Amino acid sequence: MSNEPYEEKTMRIHLDESLCSGHGRCYTLSPELFEADAEGFPVQRGQDVDVPEGMESTARRAMDNCPEGAIRDTSA
Ligand code: SF4
Repeated sequence: MSNEPYEEKTMRIHLDESLCSGHGRCYTLSPELFEADAEGFPVQRGQDVDVPEGMESTARRAMDNCPEGAIRDTSA
């Protein structure tokens, strides 16, 4: 058994540009992580986002409520 301190992995999500249709639920429900651009799409569209520690449930809320399934957990 290792005596190394347990290191929790940072949660990372990806917002798939090809699936996102700009409903805006992500930045409405989780404004701490997402924001809208001038056209109503999330600024993070097409990007990987490292979720700050303690905001995992905020990220999951956006994932669970995206009608297009455009937000994926890519941590693994
Ligand atoms: S909720 Fe999903 S489809 Fe809607 S803007 Fe956010 S990522 Fe795009």
